Amino acid sequence: MNPLPTQEQQQALRRLPAVHRLLEHPIVKPYHDRIPHSYLSQCTADVLAMRRREILEHSLPGEVSETDLADRVVQNLRRWAEPRLKPSVNATGIILHTNLGRAVLSEEAADAISRIARSASNLEYRLEEGERGSRQDHVEELLQRLTGAEAAMVVNNNAAAVFLVLRALAEGKKVIVSRGQLVEIGGSFRVSEIMRESGARLVEVGTTNKTRERDVAEAITEETGLLLKVHTSNFKIIGFTEEVPRKAMVHLADQNGIPFFEDLGSGVLYDLKKHGIGDEPTVQECVRAGVDLLSFSGDKLLGGPQAGIIVGRKEWIQRLKRHQLARSLRVDKFTLAGLESTLRHYLNPEEAAQKIPTLHQILKPAEKLQKQAEQLKQLLSPEIGDFAHLEVIPSQSEVGGGSLPGVEMPTYCLAVTPVKGSVTGWEKKLRQAETPVIGRVSKDKLFFDLRTMEEADFPRVVQTFREVIATGEA
Ligand SMILES: *Cc1c(COP(=O)(O)O)cnc(C)c1O
Repeated sequence: MNPLPTQEQQQALRRLPAVHRLLEHPIVKPYHDRIPHSYLSQCTADVLAMRRREILEHSLPGEVSETDLADRVVQNLRRWAEPRLKPSVNATGIILHTNLGRAVLSEEAADAISRIARSASNLEYRLEEGERGSRQDHVEELLQRLTGAEAAMVVNNNAAAVFLVLRALAEGKKVIVSRGQLVEIGGSFRVSEIMRESGARLVEVGTTNKTRERDVAEAITEETGLLLKVHTSNFKIIGFTEEVPRKAMVHLADQNGIPFFEDLGSGVLYDLKKHGIGDEPTVQECVRAGVDLLSFSGDKLLGGPQAGIIVGRKEWIQRLKRHQLARSLRVDKFTLAGLESTLRHYLNPEEAAQKIPTLHQILKPAEKLQKQAEQLKQLLSPEIGDFAHLEVIPSQSEVGGGSLPGVEMPTYCLAVTPVKGSVTGWEKKLRQAETPVIGRVSKDKLFFDLRTMEEADFPRVVQTFREVIATGEA
């Protein structure tokens, strides 16, 4: 129970203005034309209620002026009137930054989503026949063509894809997986947990660093429903290691008449190995190797919208499509529009590399990044004046999002060393600006990595710096 308010607290409470009075404050007044009255009074009442709590809970009799309260009302109004989810500049150098929304879509994919959002569409309607169709039709053929798989389907994300496969094909059965692949991916996706939730029983084989073909072969029994291989997306075991080769897993599954399912995690359609980047097999290579089912994300290396893509043999995909869960995990029309458009780029790999920001950023040569860093420095110098020191510094960026672990790419950063204010102060202001600019802090510098920035971002970056400098005390 709260103790009775002290006399001081009572006085502070009495001094608080009434709602109607605060509404008439010159700072709040201009909002009367723009914002419905009921909403305006609610925001004002909320601010006063909060102030009352402050007084009572913290025994804070210290004065908060009416102007301060009016400021709070306006802040409160803005908080509700402006979108919370907003475009930001990713200057972290981490291309697939999970907290910053992972893949950025191509212009074409973004336009496709916008077009489908603004109109009715043939989502589940076959225009040729004038009959009901499947929403999967719009991407299945493209996926067959691009990956060489017999069939394909798309669900909400890759975690859902893995869950659906385990549930539909191995509920109540045993699933064999190497101990070295019992991973946890960011955001609490744990292979062992998802397996339990799906009703499949996990059979771990081998050791953390070594699993041999014999380990898998000896574990297969009548009760085995599936062989599973999971991409160890966010770490790498180095040194004395051994994995069962893909071909051997395919062979074991074939011999025993059970499917071999591989969770590829990222899943690349574009051959990055050719550019000396990582050693990921492409989805096409895995299909060719005879893997029965493969799943991967739409918004990792593929560079499309959030989705879980499953490709493989028709008989298994049919079972997934018919399963009850498929409805719960289905993708919406925006995802399909963005995905279809993204996949279409891959019909011409050069077009994919050029138009899909994820690939484009991975492939950007260091010389170009250096030029862009110099360019940004030129643009920012007049804004920053003597508030900070600017320099172009070589560094390393990574793909992130559990893709290509251990692969680093040479990059260039614009480094800002504050002269006025602290580095954490600058970081905070840039992050809290109208268009947030998210960099990384290292010691006394703020780094803005050009690998994840586009020239089209520059005006927004300049504007944000201008705002921050205008506050005068970054
Ligand atoms: C990222 C990842 C997932 C989860 O994919 P989402 O699309 O984020 O749901 C599952 N498995 C592996 C191996 C991954 O790397």
